[in-house]
Amino acid sequence: MMGRRPAVLLDRDGTLTEPRHYPSSPADLVLQAGIVRPLQRLQSLGIALVVVTNQAGLAHGYFADKDLDAMHIHLRSELAADGVHLDGIYACPHHPDGVVADLSVQCTCRKPEPGLLLMAARELGLDLSRSWMVGDFASDVAAGRRAGCHTAWVGPAALQTNGPEFVEAKDPNLRAATTAEALQTIADLMVSQRDLKGGAIVERRLR
Ligand SMILES: [Mg+2]
Ligand SMILES: [Zn+2]
Repeated sequence: MMGRRPAVLLDRDGTLTEPRHYPSSPADLVLQAGIVRPLQRLQSLGIALVVVTNQAGLAHGYFADKDLDAMHIHLRSELAADGVHLDGIYACPHHPDGVVADLSVQCTCRKPEPGLLLMAARELGLDLSRSWMVGDFASDVAAGRRAGCHTAWVGPAALQTNGPEFVEAKDPNLRAATTAEALQTIADLMVSQRDLKGGAIVERRLR
């Protein structure tokens, strides 16, 4: 049986792409600076790259499924232009205080709940214990921890040492001012642990 792959699970808004208030069109998704090279490197190590994103704008009626599809076609093509392939994009459309009836529920996939990560792991055959969750919100870190991943908190807030966000994020494995920096460090860790511990994190490269 083929081993389960490690993954880097990335939050979308403010992590993979620049922060925007409720992005609703492809032009709203601008890749963060410097992330392409570390993503290429992770991919070349056989690490799955998966987006896990809360999209409560669907429940709030700010945009529709077709808009989200258009955004993600754009996101995939922006990355594909640099040879980066996303193994999956998982989005939670829910919010308990939404206006779209079907989506206005307390779900188990809105981060900090781990549902999106667990679904990705099931569908893509991921080993969450060797995977990383990377995000700019404390709720990303919390979701990653609940799913049993290593966690990286990125962005300006990630460097704070007090306040409610800090309390919620508790103890990420890594903090970095930028996503690019975190991804480089994760790639380094995955390589060195494989070398040092005979496959503690990266069991083997996929062919
Ligand atoms: Mg975010
Ligand atoms: Zn949900």
